[in-house]
Amino acid sequence: MSSSTVVNKPAIPSAPPAALAAFTSGAATLDRIEHVKLSSIVLPLNNPISDAKVLTGRQKPMTEVVFLFAEISTAAGHAGIGFSYSKRAGGPAQFAHAQEIAPVLIGEDPSDIAKIWSKLQWAGASVGRSGVATQAIAAVDIALWDLKAKRAGLPMAKLLGSHRDSVRTYNTSGGFLHTPIDEVIDNAVRSLDAGIGGIKLKVGQPDWKLDIARVTAVREHLGDDIPLMIDANQQWDRPTAQRMGRIFEEFNLVWIEEPLDAYDAEGHAQLARNLDTSIATGEMLASVGEHVRLIEAGSVDIIQPDAPRIGGFTQFLKLAALAEHNHLQLAPHFAMEIHLHLAAAYPLEAWVEHFDWLDPLFNEHLEIRDGRMHLSDRPGLGFTLSDQAHAWTVATAEFHS
Ligand SMILES: [Mg+2]
Repeated sequence: MSSSTVVNKPAIPSAPPAALAAFTSGAATLDRIEHVKLSSIVLPLNNPISDAKVLTGRQKPMTEVVFLFAEISTAAGHAGIGFSYSKRAGGPAQFAHAQEIAPVLIGEDPSDIAKIWSKLQWAGASVGRSGVATQAIAAVDIALWDLKAKRAGLPMAKLLGSHRDSVRTYNTSGGFLHTPIDEVIDNAVRSLDAGIGGIKLKVGQPDWKLDIARVTAVREHLGDDIPLMIDANQQWDRPTAQRMGRIFEEFNLVWIEEPLDAYDAEGHAQLARNLDTSIATGEMLASVGEHVRLIEAGSVDIIQPDAPRIGGFTQFLKLAALAEHNHLQLAPHFAMEIHLHLAAAYPLEAWVEHFDWLDPLFNEHLEIRDGRMHLSDRPGLGFTLSDQAHAWTVATAEFHS
């Protein structure tokens, strides 16, 4: 800017308007948390769910998902809701840990989310900075972000700074391995007819020929233009992943997900270098630090963090900044109700994973059309708990000032 440039500055009022007085008086605390309610909600699944971890004998079919919900309200009458979850074991532990650390929330300014995250982490520091401890904090963190967005009267994505009003979406829940291939195809057709833009299929069975047969059947039925992904759920070893990756090159897949153990950063990096098909992983990791290892090793083309698993919005946003800096694509794992907002706020076009499992928990539902999931104009995350969710609640704990 040259020295002769004239900049028109707004006039500075000699005294602040009354409405701004609270913000300019030096008082740092504008509101305080008065009430916290934690709920453990057990969502039953219609059919026992099997991915490759069940077919290789490592896990039993999944029959339920256990949610930790946090509902927070303030002296000024604002409220927010957030959740975390676990599959198979861990739900009671998340609830128990949240119960122990929640008392430190009372009296805090709900706007000071980073400070609160740190305070909650120190309260439970003895059990570490990832996993159950982090996931217990995540429910609270997400509730505080929801509260902040609602107070601003903005959808969460708008509060974060959105790049788009809708995000590409693909379906996962129709393509599990317990589902016969005819049903998988029916599910895929139904998903596409409902406006979903892509289809993910589970692979990683002990008999690799079955994987190829299922993917071939779906590709032939849907045609070459439908975006298709596969997910091995960590069940290949390095040589198998290499061989299967080469076989699947001709299927024009959008990505191969979790070809290897979730913590095998170097193995994923080798695959990413050797294959044209994009490599995606990250859903199992339980902190930003664990994801940093993947990024540093060049393990992924598409990173798949899960906000409830890594500590909520506060941690996810740190990871998103790192991912963008490293030119990675983003496809967050599960919890589309949360991840739609984060994916909309990511600079590069992302994918959101469509699971219909959580639909009964909420009164509101996401709009899907033209291959994309659309943000609503509801403030915050845009969800309220349904009567069914209350009926599935198995434990609650409340904290007051
Ligand atoms: Mg997966």
